[in-house]
Amino acid sequence: MAYKIPLFDLNFGKEEEDAVIEVLQSKWISMGDKTTELENSFAERIDAKHALAMTNCTAALHIALAIMDIGPGDEVIVPSLTFVATANAVKYVGATPVFADITSLKDLTISPEDIEKKITDKTKAIMVMHYGGFACDMDKIMAIAEKHNLKVVEDAAHSPAATYKGKYLGTIGKVSAFSFFSNKNITTAEGGMLVTNDDALAERAKLMRSHGMTTMSYERFKGHATSYDVIEVGYNYRLDNVRSALGVAQLKKLDEDIERRKVLVKRYYKNLKDIDGLIVPFMGKEDESTNYVFPVVLAESCPLDREEVRNKLSEAGIQTSVHYPSVHEFSIYSENYTKLPLTEYAARREITLPLYYSMTLEQVDYVSNALEEVLR
Ligand SMILES: *Cc1c(COP(=O)(O)O)cnc(C)c1O
Repeated sequence: MAYKIPLFDLNFGKEEEDAVIEVLQSKWISMGDKTTELENSFAERIDAKHALAMTNCTAALHIALAIMDIGPGDEVIVPSLTFVATANAVKYVGATPVFADITSLKDLTISPEDIEKKITDKTKAIMVMHYGGFACDMDKIMAIAEKHNLKVVEDAAHSPAATYKGKYLGTIGKVSAFSFFSNKNITTAEGGMLVTNDDALAERAKLMRSHGMTTMSYERFKGHATSYDVIEVGYNYRLDNVRSALGVAQLKKLDEDIERRKVLVKRYYKNLKDIDGLIVPFMGKEDESTNYVFPVVLAESCPLDREEVRNKLSEAGIQTSVHYPSVHEFSIYSENYTKLPLTEYAARREITLPLYYSMTLEQVDYVSNALEEVLR
């Protein structure tokens, strides 16, 4: 069914079309100059030392853990109110994800207090996820990490150019991963970026992205006869030139995307802040965020079931979504199950409302009114 107001719409135009055609005509379609340009522009935009383009954010999360030698026997503390890739990346390296609860129904990011409770002598890292581009409590989390000698990985899939106390998300922990999937703030259809300020980790990530192969110049430097050497089991997680060109065009639109979303979100807040039975998370933090999604949570005082509310909105032509079903309740993670009361509540009572660059204030009002009507 075609919705009157979709959950999301792409911000694509002639810039993206021209960028792709230029690469196709150049005939250099695999990783190349556009990839380097995207990496350099991205690193510059978020004040990071190294940005390495990858096939997707999931691959970047995998590499982030692999380059820090996290593996079998190790535990990584992760949120459960996230996309499943956050936890799956831990499984890829053979380590064990340990789930921690969210802070509150108004702050859907991982709880520093619960992180600390979940630390054991096997814990090696904490993987945080900045929900919707809203920063986790990084001061507390970095202090816990320091105290227990743990690495911090940021799943920054939602957070390009979002900040925390003046620092860009994805540059606070050791390594971070961004997503350029089709519904993210900027997209290359499929794509991602690994970011780190650590030279050695960046070097290793570069190797692991491309089969563990050393470059020819590096080989020459070492004086080997062969054109290249393979020094560890790597992967093929490269981002091609076609997608990279899309990324370059999209990155130029990031600031206007973020600015527009702020305006829309402020209108949502104005409309929704006093509705009985509705919790509106993150209110007041929108200026530091990318506002990747707009979540609301049905309060305990709301007698309606979430699916009832979503169906009524759907009847009004409004597409909604859920961010997220809780990962620790999926079948594949039944062995890692631990009771997370707030996450389990949010997983059943959160609704994501439409938000995208070309949305109008009238459309925000239409969605807000429809929701108010349903809850009344
Ligand atoms: C989208 C997303 C990912 C995965 O990104 P891909 O680029 O599709 O691999 C990981 N974590 C979170 C929180 C996401 O939203």
